[in-house]
Amino acid sequence: MPLEQEEAVESPITDHAEYDAVVVGAGFAGMYQLYRLRELGLSVRVLETGDGVGGTWYWNRYPGARVDSPSMQYSLSFSSEMEQEWGWPEDYSPQNDLERYANHVADRFNLRDDIQFGTRVTNASYDENTKKWTIETDRGDSLTAQYFITAVGCLSATNMPNFKNLESFQGEWYHTSRYPKEGVELKGKRVGIVGTGSTGIQAITAVGKEDCELFVFQRTPNYSLPSNNKPMDPEFEKEWKTRYAEHREAARVSQGGAEIIAYPSVSALAVSDEERAATYEKAWNQGAFTLAQSFTDLMTNEDANFTAAEFVRNKIRQTVKDPETAELLAPKDYPIFTKRICMDTGYYETFNRPNVHLVDVKANPIEEITPKGIKTSAGEFELDLIIFATGFDAMTGPLFRMNIAGKDGLTLKKKWEDGPKTYLGISSVGFPNMFMITGPGSPSVLSNMTTSIEQHVDWITDTIKYLKENELADIEPTAAAEDAWVEHVNEVANKTLYPKANSWYIGANIPGKPRVFMPYVGGVGNYRQKCDEVAAKGYEGFELTPA
Ligand code: NAP
Repeated sequence: MPLEQEEAVESPITDHAEYDAVVVGAGFAGMYQLYRLRELGLSVRVLETGDGVGGTWYWNRYPGARVDSPSMQYSLSFSSEMEQEWGWPEDYSPQNDLERYANHVADRFNLRDDIQFGTRVTNASYDENTKKWTIETDRGDSLTAQYFITAVGCLSATNMPNFKNLESFQGEWYHTSRYPKEGVELKGKRVGIVGTGSTGIQAITAVGKEDCELFVFQRTPNYSLPSNNKPMDPEFEKEWKTRYAEHREAARVSQGGAEIIAYPSVSALAVSDEERAATYEKAWNQGAFTLAQSFTDLMTNEDANFTAAEFVRNKIRQTVKDPETAELLAPKDYPIFTKRICMDTGYYETFNRPNVHLVDVKANPIEEITPKGIKTSAGEFELDLIIFATGFDAMTGPLFRMNIAGKDGLTLKKKWEDGPKTYLGISSVGFPNMFMITGPGSPSVLSNMTTSIEQHVDWITDTIKYLKENELADIEPTAAAEDAWVEHVNEVANKTLYPKANSWYIGANIPGKPRVFMPYVGGVGNYRQKCDEVAAKGYEGFELTPA
């Protein structure tokens, strides 16, 4: 099965190939950026590989796909009318509601006119003489623009490991991020799911309930917390909407881009065993990420972290009836929360079902794909369908595959060969007038994405407005500002336990990728303040070139 859906190839644009701005991606980031740049009166073209809007929520249609941020907070805040009118059916929205919402945003603000679907950017290069970007596509388009804005998401470049003899498989196979729109018949089939990250955990829980035989190929277990998802309580929604602006403001200054009811004030090691257990139990029952906010030092002190990890391991042991399966599902070799914590709706219970089988591919690695299924060192598993939940080449992958070249033809890939180098996660030396929405070095994947997207888009829009008003041609960070930011990003990450896990945050899931912690741990609120200060000081750390 092809990884990239084959889109109908239309002819290149011929009528108007020069724009003020080209934006890549029509997820929430690209759509909001288009909306804001239109307000400035700019001509904008959005290029989108898919044939619809929604980004992540367009591509990830696998069974069980659902957001981990509360619906009332995982949405765009720029239109209070839309905020009031839109209703979310569940506390944590499934893919179809999020895609429906993305389409609503596009329709409501008439965005489709400026979005070109079915188009992948193949090259983007900066010309120092004209001070313009040229963007080329797989349809043969060549567009020029003063501003080049990437809204490509952090988790959009599929990671498909190089499994030996994959092409020999005679059944169906799909990567979760390219799951067919029309769904796949599971009834009566022998289904294999490879991967137990956030995606795998959701897919396994959903597929396990079907009338099929499910084989879960797990290499590394993940910690997963119950979401306690439920239908939206109309009273809660009504009440929330009366104070929507306050909730949004709380999210904007928070650590993770979502409003938190109560911040912790005490160390996990400063309370008695009984009090700690009661705190964890309460948080577990509340669900979602509450457990992570139980104590002040869960991300900085290994002993404190161990208490939370052990609490979750014991929950797994209590839930999964077969002790051997429970032990395999209980993560032991990295601190909890140092890989993206997963959220589920009955994941561990799934392994009590007679049709669900856990296969340990750490002890017995996958050797090859055969015509009949998956062969591990312990034997062959015959399958009709394989679902690969093997993740993404995160953060840098979506940028690199556009072959971006800046000044002197230096490619972003070359410049970042030892790890991403950005100023504020939004810009990079040598790439004038290029802005990355939720790029590496910004809170992005460590935050509620919609909050971070809006902050970046607003900042970029204000910056472009400033350039126009002050008749400036180019903006580019200085090397000193970039070096200092990279150092700061590393410094704050190294104060936490994050680097202790082989996570995709650190590039560990992609062979050969440099081991560098990519997102900014310093918090959404602090980060916003820093960005605002930079702007208030006349774009401190940037070089501005007159037109
Ligand atoms: P992931 O966290 O990178 O997990 C990939 C899984 O595939 C891991 O279990 C990995 O095992 C396994 N794997 C990779 N190569 C393998 C191989 N050769 N053999 C066996 N197993 C292999 O990817 P993901 O689950 O797609 O999640 C990525 C991120 O997307 C999440 O962390 C989250 O940020 C986001 N996401 C969010 C939501 C949500 O909001 N609800 C849902 C899904 C995803 P190892 O760990 O051993 O490498």
